[in-house]
Amino acid sequence: MIDRFVKPGFRSAAPYNAEHHDFAWQHRQLARMMSNECPIPPSEGVREAVRRAFDIGHLYPYSGKDLQAALARYNNVAPESIVLGNGSTEVLDVLVRLLVGPGDETVIASPTYAFFESQTRINGGEPVSVPLTPRTWELDVDAMLAAITDRTTIIFLCSPNNPTGKGWSTAQLVRLLDTGIPVVVDQAYLECGYAESFAPLVAAHPNLVIARTMSKGFGLAALRVGYLIGDPELMDIVTRVRIPFSISLMGIWGCLQALDEPEELAYRTEFISSEADRLHAAMQQVDGVESYPSDGNFVLADISASGRSVSAVVDSLLAEDILIRAMGAHGLKGSHIRVTVGTVEQNDRYLRLLEELLVPVSRGV
Ligand SMILES: *Cc1c(COP(=O)(O)O)cnc(C)c1O
Repeated sequence: MIDRFVKPGFRSAAPYNAEHHDFAWQHRQLARMMSNECPIPPSEGVREAVRRAFDIGHLYPYSGKDLQAALARYNNVAPESIVLGNGSTEVLDVLVRLLVGPGDETVIASPTYAFFESQTRINGGEPVSVPLTPRTWELDVDAMLAAITDRTTIIFLCSPNNPTGKGWSTAQLVRLLDTGIPVVVDQAYLECGYAESFAPLVAAHPNLVIARTMSKGFGLAALRVGYLIGDPELMDIVTRVRIPFSISLMGIWGCLQALDEPEELAYRTEFISSEADRLHAAMQQVDGVESYPSDGNFVLADISASGRSVSAVVDSLLAEDILIRAMGAHGLKGSHIRVTVGTVEQNDRYLRLLEELLVPVSRGV
């Protein structure tokens, strides 16, 4: 068979699972509360900028130096410390390819974004999961340090963490940076709340790489623009390895316009953050639900004490055209759901249905 020519590590590759996206696209009536998208569509200014770009859609784009400069100003870092990508996933993938090979290990604070584990394996590496503290979902820095071996080439963090919602502190991060091992911190949800940005640490810590995206708080997931912030020498290597022209002109101009609308971003952050707080507070009131505060655009909840199974709850909501996610990853033991902040109407309806579904049996009708 032709697949015998494929390099060994790749034949059994298990990619990041994107089935829930395809399912939602096949059922357009669903409230998409499953994949941490922004409930607010692009501003009129951004739509106009994207249309202007597509008007000259027969041309190849340029490299986006202006967007790189604008993101450098936005983050108050040097332009050379930024690399643009087709979503942060593109440049995270390049970074893992640069740092992880057969026999290498990555230390991953779990539960977290499954992409870190899948890309480690695809490159022949061994992911080593270090659990967050149960229920409080704190980073266990001592356990992370203890998990490091001489094969460790990346320490992966996500702050605020998907799916638990909490952000880490500079003090915690610095303890990991002091090992000298590359620390990759995915800050995809920074604009969704008020967690701490680690961009100011990059200048003093060449082993720190931060992944950011225009997909979440900025709400431009379809444009596929993300970026890394890190040491200029390392970012230069990433630039040379990544695919040329991977960012469209629509992406460049749309994002430049979005960065030029700070009031719009502030409105989005405030909306997402206050609705996440509202979802958390309301779920916490439901019998049998333990919900966790979140600086992301999603809220995690443990529903095991309700006596209902996660799949029953997810299916019942689906029957009402609301799609949320069952969380089965490390430490969550299939007893947690994650709901993405939707519009006010979607959040109201979700909360009402959840309350109805979880009425204690004794009080049920
Ligand atoms: C959604 C998400 C991303 C976004 O990826 P893009 O490719 O930039 O759209 C990255 N990291 C985490 C943890 C996410 O949840």
